[in-house]
Amino acid sequence: MTNTTIDIPGYEGRATRLEKNNTFRVIDMEGCQIADMFVISAEDNSEFFSPALTKQVIFRTVAKPGDYIYSNRRRPMLTFLNDTSPGPHDMSFAPCDPGFYIDLGGDASHPNCRDNFYKAIGELDITIEPPPDPFNLFQNTVPKANGDFEVGKTLSKAGDYVEFRAEMDVIIVITACSVDLPVEGIDALGGKSTPLRIQKV
Ligand SMILES: [Zn+2]
Repeated sequence: MTNTTIDIPGYEGRATRLEKNNTFRVIDMEGCQIADMFVISAEDNSEFFSPALTKQVIFRTVAKPGDYIYSNRRRPMLTFLNDTSPGPHDMSFAPCDPGFYIDLGGDASHPNCRDNFYKAIGELDITIEPPPDPFNLFQNTVPKANGDFEVGKTLSKAGDYVEFRAEMDVIIVITACSVDLPVEGIDALGGKSTPLRIQKV
């Protein structure tokens, strides 16, 4: 990791390399912000974080401190170390994309995590198509017993963070989710996308 602090403006994303045993935090700078986190093996970009495989191994709908998160090859990529936010987090949703905003009544030019992933990873001269699925940090979509999702406003406060340790050399991409339109009547971000920070510790 070249820089110890990487600031991510609202509606944007950033990518960085981490070595095995590096520890880092993803910080919600102003509160009420969703952070999509993508994790890719630095050695082989076809190996990346798999929410489905991770859920199969940990046997719960979302990882919590103490859990590994796993690659599509069943190898631990990160250890989830610490969480100062009230949660919840989400490991069920794909990154938002132009069609998501069209469905919400917006237009295809709306900023979105999919395009921000391409842009961030492109700055490292890497192409991955389509994007892997992310770990949606601070995202308050809780599965109910009947299978529906309950959508809620994001509960994290300014300065809340989640902390991870890399278990292999990885590239992480963090996007400040752009979902500033209501979903099921809920304004998850309070109307606008706000900054995040990646902090090596
Ligand atoms: Zn998003």
